Amino acid sequence: MFSSTDCLVLDRSAGSSVVDLIGRTPLVRLHRFERETPGVELYAKAEWQNPGGSVKDRAAARMILEGEASGALTHGRTILDATSGNTGIAYATIGAARGYAVTLCVPENASAERKLILRALGATLVFTSPLEGTDGAIREARRMHASDPDRYFYPDQYNNDGNWRAHYDTTGPEIIEQTSGRLTHFVAGLGTSGTFMGTGRRLRAFNPGIKLISVQPDGPMHGLEGLKHMESAIVPGIYDPSLADEDLRIDTESAYVMVRRLAREEGLLGGISSGAALAATLIVARRLRAGVVVTVFPDGAEKYLSEPFWHVDV
Ligand code: PMP
Repeated sequence: MFSSTDCLVLDRSAGSSVVDLIGRTPLVRLHRFERETPGVELYAKAEWQNPGGSVKDRAAARMILEGEASGALTHGRTILDATSGNTGIAYATIGAARGYAVTLCVPENASAERKLILRALGATLVFTSPLEGTDGAIREARRMHASDPDRYFYPDQYNNDGNWRAHYDTTGPEIIEQTSGRLTHFVAGLGTSGTFMGTGRRLRAFNPGIKLISVQPDGPMHGLEGLKHMESAIVPGIYDPSLADEDLRIDTESAYVMVRRLAREEGLLGGISSGAALAATLIVARRLRAGVVVTVFPDGAEKYLSEPFWHVDV
């Protein structure tokens, strides 16, 4: 079904803008991990191939383009939002290309690499308390927007239907096409929940038999950057827990182990939430005798390279 590299990438025409480069990411087959799951095929969407380096390009582009179409985003307004990093990088990337200033509320403990990338793209950063995580950043973005609503375009990714719809219209159909509709299980981490909700709804509409498995950190204090522990967090308005057939909890150490294994056994440099997605995918796949399990690797490793977890033997 797939080429020898098990990737499917559509041609891109010359002269495309950054927005045109978003999506149509490769679906990579995890050959080495399949040895542990006889009869079950394992695939992951390599979302770091997006121009901003993460899955969030899809949602950010959709929210910005919808803002332009509705008139809420006009030139002279600043794009403002709360983000643990990747949505910010996406806003900064697309904002730069389309001529908007971008201001981001970011927990101060976001990785140094993320801050450097955001600054390189010209974004203004407002740091919030590391103890309050992304919730503190959300509160600050709300406060800034409320105090000067005309100055800002506030997409509010946690409550914007464009977030999940981006995945309904792109990630979902891509996975159906890239697996020739054969997938049986879909596994994805929950941050804003846009990836899981949008892709999951599309897959359900295509085949109600497809099982949808969401992935969360196992507790409030965790190192799974980009993922939310819903019980202890501000729950995103777009999140509907009833969509999932199952909700798996992954601890940070298990995600680190999988990030290292992914690099050293498949040659894929994924981010920490990719490790969590892989850990959950293996839990699901090990229970099956046959199946096609697809997950999403939201970003790559480059923003986490200075973290100490790399220097432990697998
Ligand atoms: N992983 C990483 C690294 C992320 O930045 C995000 C976005 N917060 C996610 C996973 C979760 O994606 P979503 O917001 O679509 O749930």
